[in-house]
Amino acid sequence: MTNIHPETGRFLARTAKEQLLRQKGVVLWLYGLSGSGKSTIVNEVERALHGEGRITVILDGDNLRTGLNNNLGFSDEDRTENVRRVAETAKLFASAGIIVFVSVITPLRRHRAAAREIIGPDFREVYLKADFETCAARDPKGLYGKAKAGKIRQFTGKDSGFEEPDHPALVLDTQTRSVDQCAADLLGFWRSLRGGRPGE
Ligand code: ADP
Repeated sequence: MTNIHPETGRFLARTAKEQLLRQKGVVLWLYGLSGSGKSTIVNEVERALHGEGRITVILDGDNLRTGLNNNLGFSDEDRTENVRRVAETAKLFASAGIIVFVSVITPLRRHRAAAREIIGPDFREVYLKADFETCAARDPKGLYGKAKAGKIRQFTGKDSGFEEPDHPALVLDTQTRSVDQCAADLLGFWRSLRGGRPGE
């Protein structure tokens, strides 16, 4: 590392970009079981924000696994590396003033802690609450069926652990609330973050 000298003060300031975009960079990190509704809700909320002239990006776990993370599997070690790369990517976008939605299972508390550690004060933890049985009944990608038939190993909630959160900034209970209600809650949460921000 001795020959690496990160620039700190010379590049254009983040606030200049935020003023240009008239918004503040932030990372809304949605996590929960497969089928808990992460993609569905970020899709709704991103479209609503787009309609208001906001610049957003979605970092979706499955999509990233076809590119940046295509050499990673689902072992504990690979899930940890998956979270590290997504967190570093989210941080880059947020530092350019972009509203970032992360949609990744992020099963363990230490994974969430690692993401928080990398991203810092822009990080907001959003837990999508839906239990294994509910997600298995939805099974939007057919994964629960395959896992039950023994065709998928290290499946979260079955043979790979998922830890309930301690202190998420927001809980979206997708088991008892509709897609529209959950999307409205997330949008409301984002609005509540905006007080006193540059360019607003
Ligand atoms: P994930 O991205 O977490 O794997 P998906 O968004 O792909 O989950 O799938 C969630 C499924 O659950 C979709 O088929 C969606 O229509 C359904 N669903 C039912 N209720 C809700 C809700 N309140 N919020 C989000 N999704 C819901």
